[in-house]
Amino acid sequence: MFKSKTTKIAGVLLLSASMLLSACGKDKETSGSAKNALEQIKANGKIVIGVKYDTRLFGLKNPSSGEVEGFDIDISKELAKDIVGDEKKVEFKEVTSKTRIPMLNNGDIDAIVATMTISEERKKEVDFSDVYFDAGQSLLVKKGSSIKGLEDLKKGTKVLAVKGSTSAINIREKAPETTVLEFENYTEAFTALKSGQGDALTTDDSILYGMVDQDANYELVGGTFTEEPYGIAVKKGNKELVDAINSALKKMKDNGKYDEIHKKWIKSN
Ligand code: GLU
Repeated sequence: MFKSKTTKIAGVLLLSASMLLSACGKDKETSGSAKNALEQIKANGKIVIGVKYDTRLFGLKNPSSGEVEGFDIDISKELAKDIVGDEKKVEFKEVTSKTRIPMLNNGDIDAIVATMTISEERKKEVDFSDVYFDAGQSLLVKKGSSIKGLEDLKKGTKVLAVKGSTSAINIREKAPETTVLEFENYTEAFTALKSGQGDALTTDDSILYGMVDQDANYELVGGTFTEEPYGIAVKKGNKELVDAINSALKKMKDNGKYDEIHKKWIKSN
């Protein structure tokens, strides 16, 4: 009898203690989610950025050092310097054209700096910074190819593109008769071109220049046929973070850092 009373009391005590604990937990959660994305990045002491790992000149993992390198990487480091106070306070995660928006919206990354065109379609899913680079879609072919431009992409020709890219959508509109084959990333698409699985590869001129850098047997043809303004994407509704990114971009442009990064990676202009 006495024993069971004690057990009861202990039980009640335990219950109230656990209720108290869970209430504390809830409080913590509420104050955590009350932080906006910018405050959360500052509290974490780092910004997590989704970048390409296979795109020479923009985001390429150097197999000997294990580091990712390129225009987008240097821009990201400048963002970290301005927003978190140290260019080393950035963590890079690999994204592809297909995975970048889902990864952002899942909370895996805070921002995308990955050759990403600002488009009306994408604006429905993410928010963009100001334009930080201007590219345009073009074609890459083996030197000596009979394909000299869009007009040669007739029925029976095969064009290689990457899933989730604007290029894969645009090419169907610009060359409706050609067959479009889509790959997971640019390494796979370029490998497919080299092994003769297609007649041309299409994406931004800026990315194609990186492929020519890697293999001079290939060349760009036909000029550019779209405008691809690159923006930095964040989860929708994070105005403070977009403002902080835009202010960092403006600073980079004003103090010459942007030009320095541009000169380092982009040789064509
Ligand atoms: N800029 C284009 C896009 O955002 C092509 C490059 C890419 O696939 O990332 O889709």
